[in-house]
Amino acid sequence: MIPSVSIKDNLNNLKSGNYKAVNLVDYFLDRINKFDNNINSFITITENAAYEKARWIDKLISEGTKDPEKEYPLLGTVIAFKDLFLTKGVRTTAASKVLDNYIPAYNATVVERLEKAGCITIGKLNCDAWAHGSSGENSDFGSTKNPWNFDYTPGGSSSGSGASLAAQFCQVTTGTDTCGSIRLPANYCYKVGFKPTYGSVSRYGIVAMASSLDSIGHLTNTVEDARRVFNVTKGPDGYDSTLKTSDYIFDKNKKLRIGIPKEFFVKGIDKSVEDNIKKAILIFKDLGVETVEISLPHTKYGLSVYYIIQPAEVSSNLGRYDGIRYGNSRDSFGSEAKRRIILGSFVLSSGYYDAYYLKAMKVRTIIKSEVDDVLKKVDAIIAPVAPTPPFKLGEKINDPLKMYLTDIYAATANLAGIPSLAIPFGFSKESLPLGFQLMGPRFSEEMLFNLGEKFEKESGYEPKFASLK
Ligand code: GLN
Repeated sequence: MIPSVSIKDNLNNLKSGNYKAVNLVDYFLDRINKFDNNINSFITITENAAYEKARWIDKLISEGTKDPEKEYPLLGTVIAFKDLFLTKGVRTTAASKVLDNYIPAYNATVVERLEKAGCITIGKLNCDAWAHGSSGENSDFGSTKNPWNFDYTPGGSSSGSGASLAAQFCQVTTGTDTCGSIRLPANYCYKVGFKPTYGSVSRYGIVAMASSLDSIGHLTNTVEDARRVFNVTKGPDGYDSTLKTSDYIFDKNKKLRIGIPKEFFVKGIDKSVEDNIKKAILIFKDLGVETVEISLPHTKYGLSVYYIIQPAEVSSNLGRYDGIRYGNSRDSFGSEAKRRIILGSFVLSSGYYDAYYLKAMKVRTIIKSEVDDVLKKVDAIIAPVAPTPPFKLGEKINDPLKMYLTDIYAATANLAGIPSLAIPFGFSKESLPLGFQLMGPRFSEEMLFNLGEKFEKESGYEPKFASLK
């Protein structure tokens, strides 16, 4: 039995009895047991709970419930959560030894909603500790390998979320994106990565990294699946006060315009990434989408601004792990978390606050209004996810600045709070995954999904998995 790749086909197969939910769990657990020793994408496997849920689903279907998807839109979707998502009764580590033994007393809103919608949780995924990183190598539980080539990183910080999907260990994974942590691993593992509008998906019950930038999203095999999951996770929950409902109106018949920021295609971008985006732009043109050059002159400061605001918020958020309420002592923090606590405390300290933090906040406002203005003239912005294809494990880990530069194209969406959809497209000559991202105005996710789906169709996209032996 081979499970279908999309959420919809999977549900249809379950409903028509082609396979049972327990067979699905058997299939994925078998692959995890065979291959994850090498890849290291999971921190915890929730085998018993997965079988229990699968048996419940099989019973529901055998009782002949009509259209179970009305109540359970994601019925039978096998999911794994980045280990930053609080799961009631199941260890949640944030991939840090500080939270080695932490068992949450409640579920994150997103976990609660996805499980209620019928998802089968199969486990918790490895990532950079506290989501600090771009390669997965900062995990206190060991690095994760890219299933497409074990010498390479799957991208971070949601390293396990990308790798486990590429290895076909499950059907959907979740991630957090503070500056690319969903889009980068999706891109490096040939998966769809979706970072929603800041304020559309609840942060309640997610270990906070930098609260004004954290977006809660997911990785899927198709754009349609990304929409299905978002329809379940989005919307106010009464806990996260930054949540709003959408005020964006999408006219399906409108001729769309995509902006190409001239500042994004300059020195430093790898030729294979650039040539590949040019091909993607041609496909959009074939679709009747108008493409125009745009300018975002202040985005060149985005990464510097991010690396001031983010550590400032990190240093404050990590203050709660004081060895009293949660977890182990502060000695258990790894070197990357320590670096950020020190940097963050420095930029917030008196005498330096105005020169660094306050200035960065002002530049953030300029970037945000620049992006907002451009998005009044075009519907979406196309950009690389990262300047290079996947890089080798070990290549950047001893040079934090080099690692930080991986996020140069990610920062804009987080600083401006806009949604971004990372779409897999093409492979490098080393057979490593490539792709691009599409950003849109706040709450324009439906427009992005629509564009993404059209692109998938026109480009002949098929979900692909790494072949493992
Ligand atoms: N790679 C970035 C960092 O190290 C972003 C991480 C993230 O999005 N969680 O801060």
